[in-house]
Amino acid sequence: MKKFLYFLAGMIVVFWMLYLVVLPLNVEKYFSPVEALPSEEWLIAKRHPLSNLFVSDMHADTLLWHRSIAEKSELGHADIHRLRSASMGLQVFMSVIEAPKDVESDSIAQEGDQITPITILDKWPATTFDSYKQRALYQASKLYKAEVNSNGKLKVVLNREDLGASESWEAYQSPLFAILGLEGAHATEFDIANLDILFEAGYRSMELAHYSDTPFAGSSSGMVKYGLTKNGEKLIQRMNEIGMIIDVAHLSQKAIIDVLELTSKPVYSSHTGVFSKCPKARNLSDDLIKQIAEQGGIIGIGFFKDAICGELLSDLVESIVFVRDLVGAQHVALGSGWDVAPLAITPQQLPDLTRALLKQGLSEQEVRMIMGDNVLRFFLNNLPAKGT
Ligand SMILES: [Zn+2]
Repeated sequence: MKKFLYFLAGMIVVFWMLYLVVLPLNVEKYFSPVEALPSEEWLIAKRHPLSNLFVSDMHADTLLWHRSIAEKSELGHADIHRLRSASMGLQVFMSVIEAPKDVESDSIAQEGDQITPITILDKWPATTFDSYKQRALYQASKLYKAEVNSNGKLKVVLNREDLGASESWEAYQSPLFAILGLEGAHATEFDIANLDILFEAGYRSMELAHYSDTPFAGSSSGMVKYGLTKNGEKLIQRMNEIGMIIDVAHLSQKAIIDVLELTSKPVYSSHTGVFSKCPKARNLSDDLIKQIAEQGGIIGIGFFKDAICGELLSDLVESIVFVRDLVGAQHVALGSGWDVAPLAITPQQLPDLTRALLKQGLSEQEVRMIMGDNVLRFFLNNLPAKGT
């Protein structure tokens, strides 16, 4: 009996050690398997063909993982070092709050949650285990901590004045601008009063739904895919009032039409695709692309299979060029999806995208807009002013 108790105690210690040491390092590898990185020499040979290019991306899920983006890592796609060495000037970091167990089909119910095991395995604060709002606040705190530990290489942007320094921006010298966004409105726990708390915490952009329909709006992959609900209308008004930018990614077509009718401010889609090139429910029809553009919005093309129906740089280029031909280069941008899954290209391969766009015959000015200037302009125009 005594022997058995020692054995049991031993096993508990072993599992506890695994939980403390081994698991945190492997949660990201398990949930987000990403290919190995190229060498430093290779990167230097691959710099962008345009000098002082300001590159922006509107969708990285990096805050979900254990590592700090202030540290150079070999996991996933993004950290400050890797983004800056790809001439990135601005990155929107999206906090993922929930993801139902089914994220593949066209008719998804709010069942199961893939983020809960991450919060437990990765030892997030216990308050995050069952609170969507706490998950958002915790992920925001990770970005602020990275800013403090970055030696001035990362700046969290809260208002348009914070972007002012972009006029003298220079790759490798300037900080990377970071903007906080929310993937889905779950972080509000569907109470509009919580929107103000999330805004106070630094969030400046929010989607109204993720994979399933919410009390605010239908999702493009939801069970019913309805438009804006009455509460959704109130939410849009409040977002407009306080300066929380509306991200229409993942919304049902009906809901996007409703949002465009109601909003007094331009909207954007942080990570999407072109339906006529890649006919998936989450991708935008030509009509919606035109309407979003007409209202001063921008379209971020995702680097993942569901957005571009392929896994190659050429698939990404085709979708970007399509939107440019449809509504003009000033409305297209990058919406990678760094740090969730294998993608068409990694940050290190962004110079290949610049080259490919120039090769397609786009002017230098158009390429600069698509690679980053559009996003910078959009946030300069739509972030709240200081003190408002
Ligand atoms: Zn998404």
